[in-house]
Amino acid sequence: MDNLIYFDYAATTPVKPEAVQAMAEALGRFGNPSSRYAWGREAAQRVKEDRETVAKAFGCSPSELFFTSCGTEGDNWAIRRGAEANRRKGKHIVTTAIEHAAVLETCRDLERQGYEVTYLKPDRAGRIAVEQLAAALRPDTALVSMMLVNNETGAILPVADCVKAVRAVDPSVLFHCDAVQGFLKTPEPLVKLGADLVAISGHKVGSPKGVGALYIKKGVRLSPLLTGGGQEGGLRSGTEATAQIAAFAAAVRANVADAGRLERAAAIKEYTLEKLKAALPRLEVISAGDAPHICAVTLPGYKSEVIVRVLGDRGVCVSSGSACHKGKPSHVFAAMNLPRPWLDGALRLSFSPDSAREEADALVCALKDAADSLFTTMS
Ligand code: PLP
Repeated sequence: MDNLIYFDYAATTPVKPEAVQAMAEALGRFGNPSSRYAWGREAAQRVKEDRETVAKAFGCSPSELFFTSCGTEGDNWAIRRGAEANRRKGKHIVTTAIEHAAVLETCRDLERQGYEVTYLKPDRAGRIAVEQLAAALRPDTALVSMMLVNNETGAILPVADCVKAVRAVDPSVLFHCDAVQGFLKTPEPLVKLGADLVAISGHKVGSPKGVGALYIKKGVRLSPLLTGGGQEGGLRSGTEATAQIAAFAAAVRANVADAGRLERAAAIKEYTLEKLKAALPRLEVISAGDAPHICAVTLPGYKSEVIVRVLGDRGVCVSSGSACHKGKPSHVFAAMNLPRPWLDGALRLSFSPDSAREEADALVCALKDAADSLFTTMS
């Protein structure tokens, strides 16, 4: 279907033209960066430059940034190997109940291997307080994993303050942050969080799927998740995905060059929320989102998966929660203790700096029509 009205940019983003071009060029120059002849050396040089680009946007040294296949891989690597690195300390992990499945399922797997995991509960706004984390730390805590931007509410968690609080109690605890929804979506470079390990993903910022990166702070010793030919400084084996990496770097450059992107995303989100509230008196805002690109609303009494389907039939794309939930009620909204009708009717809307007001108007119109027609069938 062409001409989609797309408000699901937290699920994935369109590939930027600059990324398409960089990818096509890299596909044409197909050398393996490990090969010793000129084509290989050229490919290695390009990966080096691409790493410098992404590292600069992150705020770290290129030697601290390791390309991965996705955010999920970065989260798995950081949590599994981070917990293992500190196993002499203990087998306790602290995370939050509102993490992405990439973190939660990894923690559950570690529970099956004998780890104990504390899941911090958010308040009704989806926020976690520094004091909650401080109170959960134990002498045997090996690792903390806390996301920066929640993918369903847009809430920004106080990661930098939490890092400081953890360091004050016990500097040997490793701190991992899933910043997949935060990279290039928050004003400060992510290195300033002070975390030891930070996972990011390309397809949330205009690169194709299949590439991400893990920041490993200098001095932090993390063993590889993937062993083999010793690429990425011996820490992440597997022939480098040169074309995806080139596209990732090009998308990062395009984002960085667009200085007004955060303000524009925030402005179109605010515009949409105002229009929605005016058009649909039953609509409640679950979270206006601290991050510029995500908010969550609900139509109590409706079923979000039905609304998403009806909107989808009209070419309007929104999400009933994280794209990874596949129709199951959102664990994030459930952890926020929303009343059942709010939970059932919850929708996530997510924006691009380039989302147009006409698209927002079309979304509002389609949602109003959907709600009206479903209300008739319900009553
Ligand atoms: N973490 C968060 C907060 C996400 O929103 C996502 C994807 O939606 C991921 C991790 C997983 O990233 P990827 O799709 O690159 O594996």
